[in-house]
Amino acid sequence: MSESDLTVSPDPRMVRGLEIAARMRVRQDGDAWIVPSQSGDGRYRVHPDEERCTCPDFATRGLRCKHQWAVEFVRQREVAPDGTETVTEAVRVTYSQEWSRLQPGAGARAQAVPTAAPRTV
Ligand SMILES: [Zn+2]
Repeated sequence: MSESDLTVSPDPRMVRGLEIAARMRVRQDGDAWIVPSQSGDGRYRVHPDEERCTCPDFATRGLRCKHQWAVEFVRQREVAPDGTETVTEAVRVTYSQEWSRLQPGAGARAQAVPTAAPRTV
């Protein structure tokens, strides 16, 4: 009996990243992105190009954390065809490539993405 067929749950950190991208203010700061902690206690710096984050989770695991996911979702939103945000046109090309490389399941992600109201940064 194969359990792998039944457990197609998304990475919990990806889901957290979705929540952060939808509800919290993620902004770019040079090469880094500033992502607030979900607990509202501090913020972390994500370096997407280096796939690094300053949070304890990433320091411990060395794997993609929810903050990195959040940055990916925010960047994806900015370049979405139906999106109204055109804030960082300088990064558009690079990010779309990186996103397609990183996402494991486009279908699941598309379903999970809430249609967040466009934010004025
Ligand atoms: Zn992190």
